[in-house]
Amino acid sequence: MHAAALAELGLGEEWSYEAIDVAPDRLDEQVRAMAAGEFAGANVTVPHKGAAMAVADSASEAAREIGAANTLVFEDGEIHADNTDADGFLASLPEPPLGLRALVLGAGGAARAVVWALLRERAEVDVWNRTDLRSRHLCEELGGEPIAEPDPAAYELIVNSTAVGLQSEDPFAVLPLTPASFTAEQTVVDLVYGEEPTALVRAAEDAGAAVVDGIEVLVQQGARSLRIWTGREAPLDAMRAAAQIA
Ligand code: NAP
Repeated sequence: MHAAALAELGLGEEWSYEAIDVAPDRLDEQVRAMAAGEFAGANVTVPHKGAAMAVADSASEAAREIGAANTLVFEDGEIHADNTDADGFLASLPEPPLGLRALVLGAGGAARAVVWALLRERAEVDVWNRTDLRSRHLCEELGGEPIAEPDPAAYELIVNSTAVGLQSEDPFAVLPLTPASFTAEQTVVDLVYGEEPTALVRAAEDAGAAVVDGIEVLVQQGARSLRIWTGREAPLDAMRAAAQIA
């Protein structure tokens, strides 16, 4: 996705984007070496998003409040942490969520970014999580209301920010939803993505809901990271096409 964007922007010769596996106990050392070297920045993914905050010399308001960074910027040897998951999620929605009743499933790093973004845009947010202690803790820190037994029909926006659906498990067996939960009036977002549309996305589409899949959210957060590093507007269509192929 990033390679396609860099090529489209004519930056393919000078810039490259590569995946680097880093063991958790080597994150600090790796990031400092990158900041001292030729890297402009990095994306950070599971399980490093929280730890990346501790390595950073400074952080954006979003990264600080969410407590996680997915984007690092290296400048003069300094490390700046940012979080584009929140704005990437908002940009993927068909309309601004102002005043919408939203149900967020999950209480991990992705859910924190989603809840933070929705509350900033003044949506009403309920949070369900398998481990309810974590949803209560999230709401104490960020806002929103923990909910144990949500009625999905009561929401205009439903966001799956759990990891359910990554494997072949049935989301309807473990999430407080059924295929009949969705309506044509709702927007349904599934942050999970894979080679095929998830079972949740398929059921929401069948119900006529407005559906946003995890690839669109991935592209939108990636576009924001790319803009931070290069100062250039990201070519969304090239990124979408590359992400779909990958
Ligand atoms: P995380 O911090 O590990 O959180 C995982 C969440 O999933 C927790 O709320 C956990 O609940 C829940 N969960 C896991 N297995 C479950 C199960 N069998 N039944 C019910 N709940 C279950 O992970 P994360 O970083 O938040 O990421 C969550 C998902 O979002 C991942 O699939 C990730 O790939 C995706 N994501 C996508 C994008 C994108 O751009 N599209 C961006 C970020 C993340 P407990 O607290 O009960 O364990």
